[in-house]
Amino acid sequence: MNEEKRTEINELGEFGLIRHLTKKAKLSHQSSKLGIGDDAAVIQFKEGKQTVVTTDLLIEGIHFDLMYVPLRHLGYKSIIVNISDVYAMNATPTHVTVSIAISNRFSLEALDEMYEGIYLACDKYGVDLIGGDTCSSLRGLVISVTAVGEGNAEDIVRRGGAKEGDLLCVSGDLGGAYVGLQLLEREKSIFLENPEVKPDLENQTYIVGRQLKPEARKDVVELFSSLKILPTSMIDISDGLSSEILHLCNSSGMGCSLYEEKIPIADETYNMARKFNLDPVTCALSGGEDYELLFTISPGEYEKLENHPDISVIGHMTEKERGVILITKGNNIHPLVAQGWNSFRHN
Ligand code: ADP
Ligand code: MG
Repeated sequence: MNEEKRTEINELGEFGLIRHLTKKAKLSHQSSKLGIGDDAAVIQFKEGKQTVVTTDLLIEGIHFDLMYVPLRHLGYKSIIVNISDVYAMNATPTHVTVSIAISNRFSLEALDEMYEGIYLACDKYGVDLIGGDTCSSLRGLVISVTAVGEGNAEDIVRRGGAKEGDLLCVSGDLGGAYVGLQLLEREKSIFLENPEVKPDLENQTYIVGRQLKPEARKDVVELFSSLKILPTSMIDISDGLSSEILHLCNSSGMGCSLYEEKIPIADETYNMARKFNLDPVTCALSGGEDYELLFTISPGEYEKLENHPDISVIGHMTEKERGVILITKGNNIHPLVAQGWNSFRHN
């Protein structure tokens, strides 16, 4: 018998798999300005304006657990995770399509609830729901959203433009969504053991909200526009700070020094991480799902953002040979490794 070679997907990991599957993809249209490898693709149909396109899948049991994720929040989040990728290109989201596969476990009322969340996010961020697809699934719920956005050609920001000496900045605070997930998972297991016990989430609205109802940083992109700042590179934080910094560095051909003491972590996140015996900094570095924007600016732009309460400068770009490093509070140096959130680890 002819023995066929079989390679396990886990040997490649998510990004290795994407690289493998997409290496034959060619851009043959003049309108294809940027293909695979960024938060969104860029196409240009008319002079001066560019269109960005991005898509994400959410799978029950991999990305969400309906034991503690209300459908309304899930609908909301499915829009947010996509338009966050549009903002990461410094563009404005305009349209979404939503495709769903549903098993017979879901009633009309349940789907109505999910769509309430979808419409709420569309309203809040000014995007039109323009299409999608609906079909049945054997098991569980699948949601696929595609988002389209627009920006001036000269304003579109990619992952690959960071220069040596640029400042590495992040919006908001990190690690909250991951710690929120740990809390929800703990309450779930307590509930499974003893359904009589009421979940104790009341005082943890911040971190639970970070996990269940994230927002996209529209305000940060608007801030860039009003302050006339054009970041040299940008990415949104879906997989954890480490993984995203490595993406910016790889795409830009740069190294980076990240300062542990500068990483913004909310008190609620810090305290709950400690209760779980987790290192809050590790939660920020590897947790993911914060949907904050990570970007670089040239040092000349520093004073425009210096006093902004919601933007932190956390490091600077260096020549590639210096590597991508974390400088700890105790002045130790560690190479940054990506243990980013990886849906493959669930398989
Ligand atoms: P993000 O975390 O910003 O959503 P991903 O890590 O999912 O980005 O994807 C990285 C890049 O790979 C993107 O340009 C995305 O469009 C592309 N990509 C991912 N999966 C596939 C696939 N199966 N076929 C083609 N391109 C893909
Ligand atoms: Mg992204």
